Amino acid sequence: MTETRAVIFQAPGGPEVLKLVQRPVGDPGPGEVRTRHHACGLNHIDICQRSGVYPMPLPQVLGMQGAGVVKAVGQGVTHLATGDRMAYAATPPGAYCDVRVMSAAQVCRLPDGIDFRTAAAMVLQGLTVHYLFHRTVPLKSGDTVLFHAAAGGVGLIACQWARAMGIRLIGTAGTEEKCALARDHGAAETINYEREDFVVRVRELTEGRGVDVVMDSIGAATFERSLDCLRPVGMMISFGNASGKVPPFDLGILGAKGSLQLTRPTLFTHIARHEDCQAMAAQLFQMVESGKVAIRIGQEFALADVAEAHRRMEARATTGSSILLPWGGRPTAPPAGPCRQAGTGDSRNLPTGRAAFPRDHADRATAPIRLSSGESHLDLSA
Ligand code: NDP
Repeated sequence: MTETRAVIFQAPGGPEVLKLVQRPVGDPGPGEVRTRHHACGLNHIDICQRSGVYPMPLPQVLGMQGAGVVKAVGQGVTHLATGDRMAYAATPPGAYCDVRVMSAAQVCRLPDGIDFRTAAAMVLQGLTVHYLFHRTVPLKSGDTVLFHAAAGGVGLIACQWARAMGIRLIGTAGTEEKCALARDHGAAETINYEREDFVVRVRELTEGRGVDVVMDSIGAATFERSLDCLRPVGMMISFGNASGKVPPFDLGILGAKGSLQLTRPTLFTHIARHEDCQAMAAQLFQMVESGKVAIRIGQEFALADVAEAHRRMEARATTGSSILLPWGGRPTAPPAGPCRQAGTGDSRNLPTGRAAFPRDHADRATAPIRLSSGESHLDLSA
């Protein structure tokens, strides 16, 4: 019987509700695979689920993004084989662990040119940028987009994707350092929305016209003012709630502010079909392998340090993407300056004090697991 460590929570709450447990993992059923993670991605949505903003069936293993190796394949799975390198963004959650069994539909073969840490840092956030830029509105070269939280995980990928498409991306962020980082990654202009009124500044930057599209993942704190940044008939894409959910509002506001359009999309609609997911992932991998998009891993944490990782994300103390390493890793400071390594990933620039992990060490990638028959709690401070 295979065993795994997994981070679960039994009730919504702060980072302290996260518990590391050990439990058995079964064999994959029809349409499923068993995967061993080399790295797992952290996303803001994990915080929404843990805190109860997005209610979940409990107890629940968190995590929607991972990379590693396929260890077993269930009946009917044809696009993956045992031993394949893989990465995924998928629902339901369950990625904060060493080993899991999951539906194969959203698991994608990982090209050799992309290392596991980079893959774990980019699939969910990169696919999000893909659907925002290509499947939500027909964006084209010359369009102007206001993108909030431009120095975050999704944000830095969006900055680079926009540059590659010839889109003028005006990015917002909460500090001067984050603004500089967004510009280094391709934002045409930035606004420190802690210091400046971003509506006034957007109007200045667009000579009064307003932007074609706003991509707003901040939610309650920015929603209404984001509408004021749009040109007539412009598109508001509200895709997150970092500051809280957008409260109910009078639809008439959209008419009064210039016949605005509004959508509230989620990645999991766009990758629900296996074929769509695989095609989108192939395009994302191509963007990274071509060097148009480099993935910046701003911080990495051991699986056992997951609560600290959540604290830092909630405190807005992260930049770029964050990952969990089942086989080790300690909290790291963000690397100084922009990272531009493509293909093998920016993670090589991290000041981790450890050599880069060899790509295909599937089984040695995980710290030794203590065997037990049922589920047992492990010390999160270990
Ligand atoms: P990150 O943690 O990397 O970035 C979030 C950033 O939001 C923070 O760093 C911070 O940047 C800003 N922020 C502003 N107010 C707050 C607040 N009150 N609490 C926390 N952060 C705040 O997140 P991701 O890149 O993983 O995700 C970005 C957003 O996109 C999230 O809201 C997430 O839920 C959403 N998302 C939505 C998807 C969808 O399909 N709908 C898919 C993926 C992500 P600063 O300090 O610069 O303001």
